Amino acid sequence: MITVKNLNFAYHQEPVLENLTFSVQDGEFCGLIGPNGSGKSTLLKCLCGILKPQNGEIFIGQNNLLSLKSKEIAQRIAVVPQESHFAFNFTCYEIVLFGRSPYLKGLQSERREDHEIALEALRLTGALKLADHSINEISGGERQKVVIARALAQNPKILLLDEPTSHLDIDHQLEILELLKRLNQQKNLTVIFVSHDLNLASEYCQRLILLDGGQIKAVGSPEEIIRSDLIYEVYGVSAVIQKNPLSGTPHLWVAPKSRSII
Ligand code: ADP
Ligand code: MG
Repeated sequence: MITVKNLNFAYHQEPVLENLTFSVQDGEFCGLIGPNGSGKSTLLKCLCGILKPQNGEIFIGQNNLLSLKSKEIAQRIAVVPQESHFAFNFTCYEIVLFGRSPYLKGLQSERREDHEIALEALRLTGALKLADHSINEISGGERQKVVIARALAQNPKILLLDEPTSHLDIDHQLEILELLKRLNQQKNLTVIFVSHDLNLASEYCQRLILLDGGQIKAVGSPEEIIRSDLIYEVYGVSAVIQKNPLSGTPHLWVAPKSRSII
């Protein structure tokens, strides 16, 4: 479980996250939504210890994040950034094997079990056939699977993803989301997923945290959060909410701003 209490974060005295308090349960699939600049990426970076909040506390289970060494954090939490760039032409297999580094001491080379775990992570993400390919010579969707495989090789309890599907077509978006859902259900992996796509978040997340201007505007089920009044207050957009006829989850319809609503 992640527990966040009264978290405040500022870049150069400019407050970005203000007094955030929330928790995410073990095995939950949680969405973090909110407009551009509302603090989603900053919050993810605080949750994995990349940024140090000025005030407040973050607990991973019983442990205060501040009391954990970076390797100990990486054994619990893995991060999939929005975009990953690789300066060298590592193979996909080598990239995934890097996910084992939190478990290695100093210059120790990977053990047999590390190789087995890396192969299993590639298999789980459906990327085994890419093992020998260069990371820079595959498609964006394939690269995202390899980066997720690297995260899984860390054997984390919690997976944080920052807009992992934003550059993918609808088929690949669904493929990644289905993969995350499977990992969440089969391995009880806690997933915190930042998305701009409110419909996709509504479809897959059990609970949504809506950020607005660095504060929590609302937390709840998709039915409680994907509401036209909240969407208008936070995004300034008039929207109609209806149940997706294929799944029953709330989906949002918008009209072009230039067009009067029928
Ligand atoms: P989101 O991911 O919701 O779009 P961010 O967390 O990236 O929002 O940004 C929140 C606010 O913090 C924005 O106003 C942004 O300009 C500012 N910000 C983000 N990163 C930095 C940084 N490295 N230095 C200074 N300000 C930043
Ligand atoms: Mg962001």
